[in-house]
Amino acid sequence: MSIDAQFSTFHPATGERFGEYPITSDEEVASAVARARAAAAWWSGLSFGQRRRILRSWNSLLIEHLDDAVELIVAESGKPRSDAQLEAALACEHVDWAARKAQFYLHAHHRSPGLLMANMSARVDRVPYGVVGVIGPWNYPIFTPMGSIAYALAAGNAVIFKPSEFTPAIGLWLAKTLNEIVPEHQLLQVVTGAGSVGASLIAHGVDKISFTGSTATAKKVAAACVERMIPFVLECGGKDPVLVDRDAQLERAAEHALWSGMSNAGQSCIGAERIYVHREVADRFIEILKTRANEIKAGVNYGAATRPAQLEIIKRHVDDASSHGQVIVGDSTSVGERFVEPVIVLNVPENAPSMREETFGPVLIVNTVNDMDEAVQKANDTPFGLAASVWSKRNGEKIAAQLHCGMVSINSVFTFAAMGSMPFGGVKDSGMGRIHGPEGLLEFTYPRSVVKPRFNLPLEFTSFKRTVFADKVITTLSRIRHK
Ligand code: NDP
Repeated sequence: MSIDAQFSTFHPATGERFGEYPITSDEEVASAVARARAAAAWWSGLSFGQRRRILRSWNSLLIEHLDDAVELIVAESGKPRSDAQLEAALACEHVDWAARKAQFYLHAHHRSPGLLMANMSARVDRVPYGVVGVIGPWNYPIFTPMGSIAYALAAGNAVIFKPSEFTPAIGLWLAKTLNEIVPEHQLLQVVTGAGSVGASLIAHGVDKISFTGSTATAKKVAAACVERMIPFVLECGGKDPVLVDRDAQLERAAEHALWSGMSNAGQSCIGAERIYVHREVADRFIEILKTRANEIKAGVNYGAATRPAQLEIIKRHVDDASSHGQVIVGDSTSVGERFVEPVIVLNVPENAPSMREETFGPVLIVNTVNDMDEAVQKANDTPFGLAASVWSKRNGEKIAAQLHCGMVSINSVFTFAAMGSMPFGGVKDSGMGRIHGPEGLLEFTYPRSVVKPRFNLPLEFTSFKRTVFADKVITTLSRIRHK
């Protein structure tokens, strides 16, 4: 490998240097794409059963060595060990689901040819794209990319993964472990470096891109893909709302909203950032939330901020929210050099930057509403549309049905992400396309329509020999069918 330059990673909790990695050169990215193309040709030629066996062997290896994965995640993301364990275990859950279900959702489907083409058989094959480029983030360095990697592989593609420059170790470990199962084919390769390496992946013509990160970068990625007619799936950020109705179980609502907003140091795209609580229960809800938040500590219940530059954004949002609203937990000194203590602010105007932009820190803003119609209107009044959580004993379904977002949890938070069967993704600035679930498998294939005659008709419709009689038959059949 030609190494043009190197970069280092640092333990976010201590600042100690952790790893050193090459910045993959443009030529090396091109070679990786060529190797992946050869691997994809072999892999897509296997049966679903053969692919399932290989992916499940890989998953067994991942589970056997889960502690190694946890070490790497903790070191580069700064999250506590138990969070890293949960993240890694859930990633394995997705490998297993994708491997087991690919055949069921992707096998060829026969379609009705219709009356006019009754002599034909018609079916739709799902064809893997070939080489899928996965560009990943740093907040869930194994779980998030695995939502693309596992589904793309199970659908018959080879994958090249560009992890975030803050958390490359786990990506390299994933590639190494799959290589132990399939040493002769480069099914999963990792290219390391900053955004330019991701851009290079697109420039070298992978067949599909799956991107997770900010909306701003997603737009650049999408523009580069469109230039080359490369299809893409974009999983971007959110400003996720929690809606608490007057009949909600307040203890549970407060506890789960707090966890949703603060766990992983608030660095969750599907984490709560805004809470709309019904006026009749607001005082009680806020009291519980405040009490519980005061029991939570950075460095104990969640880890350090993974990306140092994020601290500036969090500080700006805390200052903005504090200048408009009433701070009930924390203050601007809560944003430290590596850790951010919990911050909760009440009554912040809907148009304040801290209410409009993604914060990605342990900061919750709680606004009181007169009824759930107002909560829904405010929850929807955002550029984002990723996930939402609704708390109500009787009205959960009704409220959920009105929310403009890709995922809603009723009387719960986050759980859809742990289900292999449920698609994951958003609308508006939160992205497009889906990972996870049947939709996630379909995302990494394209439909190919295949038709062939079962028997020949005496009438030729698709020939210059078509007769006046054939025209009459078509017209008559159409009239009978559509009158
Ligand atoms: P980015 O969106 O900039 O980065 C995401 C990934 O894209 C990284 O691997 C990055 O590489 C890569 N990348 C950057 N530029 C390009 C490019 N031009 N072409 C191809 N790939 C590129 O996220 P940041 O890490 O800068 O975080 C910024 C904000 O994004 C956060 O404040 C947060 O709001 C949001 N975010 C959302 C996430 C989610 O889960 N939806 C996850 C992470 C962040 P590299 O980082 O190595 O430069």
